[in-house]
Amino acid sequence: MRVIDLRSDTITRPTAAMRRAMADAEVGDDVFGEDPTVNRLEEMAAERLGKEAALFVASGTMANLVSLLVHCGRGDEVILGDRSHTFLYEQGGCAALGGIHPRTLVNQPDGTLDLRDVEEAVRPDNVHFPRTRLIVLENTHNRCSGAPLTPEYMKGVGEMACRHNLKVHVDGARIFNAAVALGVDASDLVSVADSATFCLSKGLAAPVGSLVCGSRDFIAEARRARKVLGGGMRQAGVIAAAGIVALTEMIDRLAEDHDNARRLAKGLADINSLSVDPASVKTNIVYINIPRKGMTSKDLADRLRRDGVMLLPTGPRQMRAVTNYHITSDDVDDAVGLIHKAMTE
Ligand SMILES: *Cc1c(COP(=O)(O)O)cnc(C)c1O
Repeated sequence: MRVIDLRSDTITRPTAAMRRAMADAEVGDDVFGEDPTVNRLEEMAAERLGKEAALFVASGTMANLVSLLVHCGRGDEVILGDRSHTFLYEQGGCAALGGIHPRTLVNQPDGTLDLRDVEEAVRPDNVHFPRTRLIVLENTHNRCSGAPLTPEYMKGVGEMACRHNLKVHVDGARIFNAAVALGVDASDLVSVADSATFCLSKGLAAPVGSLVCGSRDFIAEARRARKVLGGGMRQAGVIAAAGIVALTEMIDRLAEDHDNARRLAKGLADINSLSVDPASVKTNIVYINIPRKGMTSKDLADRLRRDGVMLLPTGPRQMRAVTNYHITSDDVDDAVGLIHKAMTE
């Protein structure tokens, strides 16, 4: 049976061009800095994000952790959203491994932090307080409808950070979705950031890897942090080669995923027993709420799985659908039909 897998864009499999590039990759020992394919990917990443340098790491989680470890020392405070990936889904790694104190602020529905909230949260110089060092923002914001944060918002963040002598980190796991949705360069979205990350292994369909971008000095320190976390890789050009294809061929097509997500949201909005807000869908993520009593997201996920549609339960009455490279507009229409059937039976 054909399965329409809408759980995540992480399920994307490498393209034929990626597999060819991986087979043919020129490699060396990257801990010695001698893998030409990794070096090329890092140069391309830095250029795309408008930074001096970049570092190839195993995952988005490692990219964020490495960045936080460089920006903050033990007992320093990081300000981040209460729905951010770094706060919710990274095992509290910054606290567990870095002794970094997280201060959460309410994420607005559009994925931003209210800058007045941030300003109030910054600690004055006082022996009782940790020192506020860093603001972490997420673009696009996974748990806030995949919302893209705009260059205008980021400019305000930059000015505020500058006034308070804070660093800014952007978790840009899906930064290219934001750039495509807003019609800007990804570099315009992170120009005020001291560090920014992105994932190759989500919508861009590469099998493994993320990049951390920043100044040359920052990346030199990030390289040390990666090594102590066990993230030094040897002939990593084999996987970096797929990343080069991802950056070259897979960014512009993200617009298709966004069209399909809007199509899905509109289709689902017509189903009475579900609550979906098509206006909130700006990129490739659709959240579906189940107001109907008696049916949980797990019930619905199990039911749909038998019909060949996969959605991700993200709460007792909430599911997530993420359009991706393997999902066509016909798949979207079929999924809407099957979900409708499941909800009306
Ligand atoms: C997926 C994701 C990460 C982590 O990436 P992994 O490669 O799964 O570790 C970090 N931040 C955001 C916003 C993500 O969506």
